[in-house]
Amino acid sequence: MSNRTFTMIKPDATGKGYTGAILDQIIKAGFTVKAMKWVRLTEEQAGLFYDIHRARPFFQELVDFMISGPIVAAILEKDNAVADFRELIGATNPANAADGTIRKLYAANIGENAVHGSDSDENAIIEGDFFFSKLERF
Ligand code: ATP
Ligand code: MG
Repeated sequence: MSNRTFTMIKPDATGKGYTGAILDQIIKAGFTVKAMKWVRLTEEQAGLFYDIHRARPFFQELVDFMISGPIVAAILEKDNAVADFRELIGATNPANAADGTIRKLYAANIGENAVHGSDSDENAIIEGDFFFSKLERF
């Protein structure tokens, strides 16, 4: 079991000024930041990141949303990081997210859902490598 996961604070949340509050909640939940950057994705980069969803009906909507503003990308460390982070952020659709979760607190709807969290140890590594070189992490 890896102890790292990957997250993005999505453009809805950065645009509404929730970045600091979300990072504070993540750190208070016991995660340590091992890499972090503030970037705006190109359409090609957003499509590649969400390549697994390319055939889904919401793919173009998802890409357009993810390039609508800057994001914060980060690698996080904690025991049981992937599962614990998914629990901290809550269900994909904020209407189904548990009270106190990041998506319940800050997300508007299933598309604009404030944060991303890796769904497996394997994808956490792939996603971290997508954003960060060896020089940019510790
Ligand atoms: P993420 O991968 O962003 O952490 P997730 O793993 O909870 O979210 P996925 O099924 O991987 O959910 O979907 C990726 C993203 O695609 C969602 O976070 C959401 O922004 C968007 N998305 C998913 N389903 C829909 C939908 N039905 N309509 C619009 N957007 C959607
Ligand atoms: Mg996912």
